[in-house]
Amino acid sequence: LHVAFLDVDTQVDFVEPHGALPARGAERIKPNLARLVELARERRIPLVSTVDAHAPDDPEFAVFGPHCVRGTSGQRKLSETLAPGAAFVPSARSTDLPDPRERQVVLEKQVLSILGNANADAVLRATEATQFYVFGLVTEVCVKLAAEALIQRGYRVAIVEDAIAPLEAAAGERAFAELRAKGARTVRTADVGAELAAVEGVA
Ligand SMILES: [Zn+2]
Repeated sequence: LHVAFLDVDTQVDFVEPHGALPARGAERIKPNLARLVELARERRIPLVSTVDAHAPDDPEFAVFGPHCVRGTSGQRKLSETLAPGAAFVPSARSTDLPDPRERQVVLEKQVLSILGNANADAVLRATEATQFYVFGLVTEVCVKLAAEALIQRGYRVAIVEDAIAPLEAAAGERAFAELRAKGARTVRTADVGAELAAVEGVA
């Protein structure tokens, strides 16, 4: 298919109203997140995820406040976006990486960008995808940076607009517009399945 999914930081602290850094309306996108992960399983689409995994004194907290501290309940990945057999990959470079065509690969990171995990490029390449559907939290920070990293590497990017949420509405809209200007396409969750079916029909 040459298509893969990138699920960004769908963690309790960013999604649940009681979380440390909840995105606006994030709770409402949970059914769409669940649907996308289910689609990945049904159609055997590679699913790459990122999670924040911070130390209690991470310098990033000066900007965003404490969130996703390793081992806390807020750092947990949503059950909706965690497939059975998922493999968590620490951010230090490894030569023994799980295959994203066989199981969900969850890249841990301590910084905003997916590239903060030294294995990100190897895992993205191993999907054999040329196009990524991107969704998760939060629109104007980690989703934007992840989409930009993909675009810079020549991947085609589709942002699933009803499966993302911003910290701040206006900033989210600006990020969304910037990504479109850089070549990202936007789709809705309901369209992703139809698109995949169409691609499969041709392949
Ligand atoms: Zn963080």
